[in-house]
Amino acid sequence: MSEISSRVIEALSRVIDPELRRPITELGMVGDIAETSSEISVAIKLTVSHCPAAEQIENNVRVALETEFKEHVTVKMQVMTVDELNSLKAKLRGSSEPKSNPFTVGSATRVFLFGSGKGGVGKSTITANVAVELASQGYEVGLIDADIFGFSIPGQLGLTAKPTRLDDMILPPVIHGVKVISIGMFLPSNEPVAWRGPMLHKAIEQFLTDVYWGPLDFLLIDMPPGTGDVAISIGQLLPTAKSIVITTPQLSAALVAERSGSAGLKTGQEIFGVVENSSYLIQSDGTKFEIYGAGGGAEVARSLSERTGTTIPLLGQIPISSALSAASDAGMPLVLSNTADPSSVAIKALAKAISEDKLPLTSRTLNVKLS
Ligand code: ADP
Repeated sequence: MSEISSRVIEALSRVIDPELRRPITELGMVGDIAETSSEISVAIKLTVSHCPAAEQIENNVRVALETEFKEHVTVKMQVMTVDELNSLKAKLRGSSEPKSNPFTVGSATRVFLFGSGKGGVGKSTITANVAVELASQGYEVGLIDADIFGFSIPGQLGLTAKPTRLDDMILPPVIHGVKVISIGMFLPSNEPVAWRGPMLHKAIEQFLTDVYWGPLDFLLIDMPPGTGDVAISIGQLLPTAKSIVITTPQLSAALVAERSGSAGLKTGQEIFGVVENSSYLIQSDGTKFEIYGAGGGAEVARSLSERTGTTIPLLGQIPISSALSAASDAGMPLVLSNTADPSSVAIKALAKAISEDKLPLTSRTLNVKLS
């Protein structure tokens, strides 16, 4: 390899593919490198012709090369051949084996299911903010929006990009450092459908096997509200998953949430804890006004503890905050835009509790971030 080519490769090793999150030099995306006395020309091979990240990759390549070289630089954008794409897919999967679910027993990814008894309790808001917070702490995070009745995660994160398809492999769009797949991205119109459990099971299974997640520290799943076969089938696909039950302070809501939490127990799924949302409003004099009553979260934790014979903690109480809902509506998670808001502080504490959870012993040695 010529000295110029080595310098090109070295410079381009700092260009990260935004979807695959690996250097383009490792992904076989650097093609022919040609040099004359006054010009360097480099071919960049995209995975697909309509790659949504094409412009970003081209700009980053240009900046990397112009920083390194004084000569004029020409960047030619090309597309991989079928063989090149196949070898990239095999490399990403770690083998030429067909697809498989990477999150079975022994996986180094910690999987959390965010569930609630009914809709509208803030489950998606909390899941989205926890995901972004974990990513901002440096963890690799994947998020599946499986809430078929209200797939709101892309909107809450300000995500408009669609997944890229490499034949049968799906690359999730990345936003605020989180890889996101939403069931809404695969529906012809953005309207909820009357999906039955088995269809949802199939969709989730495909999200686990067909999506290129790469090595993840955390996979969070925003579950559809309610009890039933969905929780059970997800339990089969994700045997190490732990559930987080979201409820509100009303005791009636707590009763429904408790039933939803206990649904997962049938498949032996562990309950990580309970989160109470919209617990109180902080008034201008600093006092807490419990608009919706009190005790729902504690009651769910108590009754789930009784059922399981283990201590299920109340992980946190998140105050009512207009800033939280405004941030979600604007597509900019509050944990990034307003770290001082009390609801932001409470969600960050929840993310910390999640990040400090340990994997089962069988998987632990694989995860470098665990102490
Ligand atoms: P779910 O996923 O349980 O259906 P969402 O996360 O979509 O619920 O939240 C429902 C609505 O409540 C959204 O408009 C959201 O912004 C708002 N919301 C959630 N939590 C809070 C909170 N702590 N304070 C104020 N508004 C909230």
